[in-house]
Amino acid sequence: MTDVSPGYDSLSPQRFPVVVVGAGPAGLTVGNILRAASVDCLVLEAETREFIEQRPRAGVIEEWAVRGLEKRGLARNLLDRAELHTACEFRFGGERYRFAYGELTGSHHFVYPQPLLVRDLVHEYADVRAGRILFGVRDVRLHDVDTDHPAVSYVCPGTGERRVVHCDFIAGCDGARGATRAALPPDRVRVARHSYGIGWLALLAEAPPSADCVLFGCHERGFAGQMPRSPRMTRYYLQCPPGDDPENWPHERVWAELRERLAASGAPPLTEGRLVEKRVLEMHDHVVQPVTHGRLHLAGDAAHLVAPIAAKGMNLALHDAFLLGDALVARLTTGDDGGLAGYGEASARRVWDYQEFSQWLSEVFHGTAAGDPFRAGTTLARLRRLFTSPAAAAAFAEQYLGTAARY
Ligand code: FAD
Repeated sequence: MTDVSPGYDSLSPQRFPVVVVGAGPAGLTVGNILRAASVDCLVLEAETREFIEQRPRAGVIEEWAVRGLEKRGLARNLLDRAELHTACEFRFGGERYRFAYGELTGSHHFVYPQPLLVRDLVHEYADVRAGRILFGVRDVRLHDVDTDHPAVSYVCPGTGERRVVHCDFIAGCDGARGATRAALPPDRVRVARHSYGIGWLALLAEAPPSADCVLFGCHERGFAGQMPRSPRMTRYYLQCPPGDDPENWPHERVWAELRERLAASGAPPLTEGRLVEKRVLEMHDHVVQPVTHGRLHLAGDAAHLVAPIAAKGMNLALHDAFLLGDALVARLTTGDDGGLAGYGEASARRVWDYQEFSQWLSEVFHGTAAGDPFRAGTTLARLRRLFTSPAAAAAFAEQYLGTAARY
């Protein structure tokens, strides 16, 4: 087990006000908020530090989320290095349609790869704010979460021993396949699920972006997308059958399909490069409710999964982390329980709004390839409306940027 906690050893007290399970964007942000208020906490992470600092995933962060990080002293590198995106481009019917949402709203997206954000958050938490974090833990289990003396236990990979940590609160931030959600009583929890019945081949290319903005190719052969990540790395997506084998997609086939689906008159050729990641994602969503049981509070992907159609998952994880971190600080420093009592509902409003937008956008992306002339017709109507109706354009921009005044 790697331990980056200064002075942490087997003699350290095994009691913390908060145990955070999972060192993704949600868990690390909660940990940092707690440490900034001098609340002690322990973060338990199943993977190594090197692994989580390199795991490629998201890249598009909404402005309100960046401001939330900035307010908590967590955005220094991001603000220095992130690219600002003010437009996206739809390609359909062999033409390009640029949607300049920055001009329309004055707002923009930040593009900053998730591994860099995770690296910043780990560094700030462990090295600057002296937060305690254990990497490589195994078989995390929760105990007595519906009492006021909950505990978390885990197996040290080094010794194979099970250790118990007592706490006041547990933040379940261990992603969609984590352990904490299982501690919710099955008879009191509802998991609302939605499957799109499609897959996306997620690709990471060692190549500069082929355009200066996000590209959405709505093509009868299937959706194709381009998301710039950095001047040297670009994410691409190709719609594929669910459960498809990435081995069915050799280099040549990937680039041929991207060229065809993103073709548009006047568009420069794609900048091709080595594919360093190639995996098939199933497009599905779920929402767990309630996200709180006793002293356990779920946050981020542990509580809700949103397919990466609208690039919303990490933004929702940060939203939860701000709410939960602030609420835990209020409870532990002043005894104010209001934030924790309202946490689930405050989280859910933005979650459902983003789920609905993802569902709407899915039809725009996938409708023309559905093999159904009726869906193809309504999809094209939706697309055209974005470029003919100022009201429709404003509504899209607001949802895409997450800037609604209230959720
Ligand atoms: P995670 O990042 O999954 O972190 C959970 C952590 O818990 C992990 O480090 C994991 O190792 C650890 N863990 C798991 N189980 C255990 C256990 N039992 N014990 C201890 N630790 C455990 N979102 C966006 O907003 N914008 C985008 O552009 C975007 N693009 C994406 C592209 C792809 C290809 C994918 C897959 C996702 C994308 N997302 C995007 C979604 C985003 O990556 C996730 O929503 C985000 O990582 C959620 O953060 P989290 O902290 O809740 O969970």
